[in-house]
Order: sequence, then C-alpha cells, then structure tokens
Amino acid sequence: MSAEIKPHLSGPPSSQKALRLLDSLKRTQAGTVIYQHIKQILEDDEVTRTETEQAYASLLGTLLSAYAQQFPADSLFRTHIKLVQMRLMPPLLATELTALRPYIEMYATDLRRNNLKITETLIESLTPLLEKFGVDVEEIVETTSEGTHTIHEAPDPPHVAHRVDHAYRQHLDAKHRSMHEIQETLAGKIVDAIHQNEDFNVRLEIASGRLQRAGSITILNTLRQVLVNETENILDSNRALGEQLASARDHLKTIQSDTQQLNDELTRVHLLSLTDELTNLPNRRAFMRRLEDEVARVQRYGNPLTLAIIDLDDFKSINDNLGHAAGDEVLRSFASNVLSTFRHHDIVARYGGEEFAILLPNTDSEGAMHALRKVQKRAAESSCRHGNAVLPIPTFSAGIALHKPGETPSNLIERADSALYRAKHLGRNRLELDTASGSHFAASLVTPGDPSVIR
Ligand code: GH3
Ligand code: MG
Ligand code: MG
Repeated sequence: MSAEIKPHLSGPPSSQKALRLLDSLKRTQAGTVIYQHIKQILEDDEVTRTETEQAYASLLGTLLSAYAQQFPADSLFRTHIKLVQMRLMPPLLATELTALRPYIEMYATDLRRNNLKITETLIESLTPLLEKFGVDVEEIVETTSEGTHTIHEAPDPPHVAHRVDHAYRQHLDAKHRSMHEIQETLAGKIVDAIHQNEDFNVRLEIASGRLQRAGSITILNTLRQVLVNETENILDSNRALGEQLASARDHLKTIQSDTQQLNDELTRVHLLSLTDELTNLPNRRAFMRRLEDEVARVQRYGNPLTLAIIDLDDFKSINDNLGHAAGDEVLRSFASNVLSTFRHHDIVARYGGEEFAILLPNTDSEGAMHALRKVQKRAAESSCRHGNAVLPIPTFSAGIALHKPGETPSNLIERADSALYRAKHLGRNRLELDTASGSHFAASLVTPGDPSVIR
C-alpha cells in the first residue's frame, strides 16, 4: 500500500485558505460579524477533523506495528513499514485518505469472508475501545470460553464469628488466587517493557551502523529520519517503562499488603474452624478429623487406642448460681489447668458445652484409667478465680472405650458415650469403662468411695 500513497505535503490548514478568500468581508461591520462566524465554524470543523484523523491514524499505526512485528528487528522491510507509519501521521491529505479507503474496505471484506481469528495483540488494542463504549470485554471472554457466567464481584464477606462460613472461605480463596494472577500479570508486563526497550536498542544500533556505511544522500536522509524516530521511541519507551515500573511497584505494594491481610484472615478462619474460641482447644470438628486419622492408623498398625469422653458434673448449677461468665471461666480453667495433665501426644478437645473428648494413642484402657485418675486428682486440687471469687473446679464423669479391631469412629464414640451415661447414672464423679473394652479392668473402675478420687 505504501507505493500508492504520496508523501504528506505540509501547508496551511484549509480553513486558513478559505478565510483568506473571505478577507474582503472584514471591510464592513456586518461583514466582520459574518467573517467571525464562518471562522468559528471552520475552526471547529478543523478541530473535529484533526481529532478524527488522529484516532484513525493511531488505529492504523497499531495495525501496522502488529504487522511489522512479523519481521526480524533488523529487516529493511520493517524500516519501510516504520516510514509508512510516519507518513500516515495526521494531518492526512484528502488524496491519502482516498488512497487508503479501498484497502480498508478490502481488509474488512477479507476479515468477514475468511472469518479470521484476531490475535491477542489486537484483542489488547481493541479492548479499551470497546470498554469505552460500555462493553464488558472480560465478561464476554469468560462467558464465551467457559460457557458459564462468572460473577466477578463477590458480595461483602459476612462477619466471621464463632462459626465459619464455608462460602466465605471459598470467597477468600478465590480473592487470593486473583491477587496472585494480578501479581503474575504485572511481573509479565515489566518483563515485556524491558524486552521492548532492548528491542529498540538493537534497532538503534542497526540504524547507526547503516548510517556509518550509507553511500547516497537519500539513504543517509532516510536513515537519519529512522534514527531520530527510534531515539524518540527509546525516550518515550524509557519514560513509559519508568512510569510502568513505578505504578507496578505501587500496585505490588498494595497487592502484597492485601495478600498478607488475606493470608492472615485465611489462617484465622482456618484456625477458627478447628479451634474452640473459649478454651483454645481443638473443637469437635478438629477432633473428629483426628479420630478418623488415629482409627485409620490403628487399623494399619494394630496399636491400642482409647477414647475418653468427660462431662462436668452438675455444671448447670455454676451458671445458675454464679452466672454464665463464671461458668465460662471454670471451663477455661478446666481446659488449661486440669486437662493439661494429659500427655502431649494425647488429643484433648472440647467436644460440646461442658464435655471434652480425649483420644489416647498407644494407650490401652488400663493406661487411660490411670491417666484419668490423675486428672480427677488434679481437678480436686484446683480452683479458679473469677473476679474476687475463688471457684472450685467441679467433679466430672467419664466414659472410656478401647478401640476394637475394624471398629468405626462413630461406633467407638457411641460406646464411650454409653459408658459416660452409665457413670452419670451411677452417681457421677466416676470413670466408667465400656464393657466391651475389657472386663478385666472392671476392678480398676473408680467409684465415689475411692479415697483417691473423692473430694
Ligand atoms: P450433669 O452432671 O448431668 O452433666 O449435669 P450438668 O448440669 O452438667 O448438665 P446439663 O446438660 O444439664 O447442663 C450443661 C450446662 O452447661 C448447660 C449449659 O448452659 C452449660 N454450658 C454449655 N456450654 C457452656 C459454655 O460455653 N459456657 C457456659 N458458661 N456454660 C455452658
Ligand atoms: Mg453435658
Ligand atoms: Mg454435665
């Protein structure tokens, strides 16, 4: 196309030429008013035309740049394309516009007929334009590629209290992932900018080499123009790179702090979902997971595993007589001062209101009984402060069950629960072993008459 387009000839804008013809109007007062009016119309028209040409030329420039990328940086052809680009800078002559029109129509027909797939570069170039006109390109791309509609903005997260909302956690996870993607994109952009800069440098070197070897004055002039142009490009590119890096750095800072906040939040949410807030012990959900793991382990290795469920005796009366806050304090103290008697590899959890579950790996029912007696003793010796009052730690009842080969976690819990029920039924402050867990331990059952356990 470059062969048919005449180089742009600089001259006065057409409006100035027209005005010069109308100069004589200014001789009269009425003529001057008409002259000013026409001048205003022509100037407005000139501005509109220039803006249209600039938009048109910049689109054309983008297309030509994309086209030039097909050729090696040092190719002469690429230099020619650059020269054409320079020639097609506004203001464009009417002859140039007329010469371009059939080509544009031809390409448009080609695009329609061949249903050409547009490249990523073009998508990138056209996206801001479409967005300016209210088209949500991202949404269209996602809907088209996934066949589903994706909601970008998740609703405000609900307040995280004691219970953790699964959907909220998913939302946080998704946000975290998108932060990561943004980070990656930015890093990519910085690398692109650096490559672009290197690319310019290479072209500059090539041009300056040719300049030194140039034989004719015409080539010299052409190369000089290329050199000037490339130098401007480098300056522009460096400026843009600097701006991009600065904005990327700010972006990364924001993202980093957002990511940190999200990570903290996720950790908190995760811990909340597994930790009882009052006692800081693992909660029932966490306990069930551990129980499943431990049961699976004993199935494989055959080690003994014992479960104990503890329930504080007559706990309701503490709440009723001293208030709920006092009850809370007793629970906290029981967890941190009494249950801490268990060995560190025993799994101690808050199973419910005033119920605790303890899983004792590598421990048979006799060992568990022994451990629980120590806990009973510790409870009897302990007290806790609530304001100015010193509160005794209540007694507790416990049901104990030894895991049977092949038994499911829920069955083991059921047996420990029935043993606990029996302990309550038989008068509280007792340790009851499930009968199926080994009758030879019946003799070691602790009763209220046992001096080591009765307060
Ligand atoms: P029992 O000896 O039969 O176990 O009697 P109990 O009073 O201990 O048992 P009950 O099931 O009748 O009452 C348990 C009480 O524990 C009632 C409930 O309000 C209280 N509770 C449960 N969770 C909490 C808590 O987190 N804080 C406080 N302060 N009280 C709690
Ligand atoms: Mg209870
Ligand atoms: Mg109770």
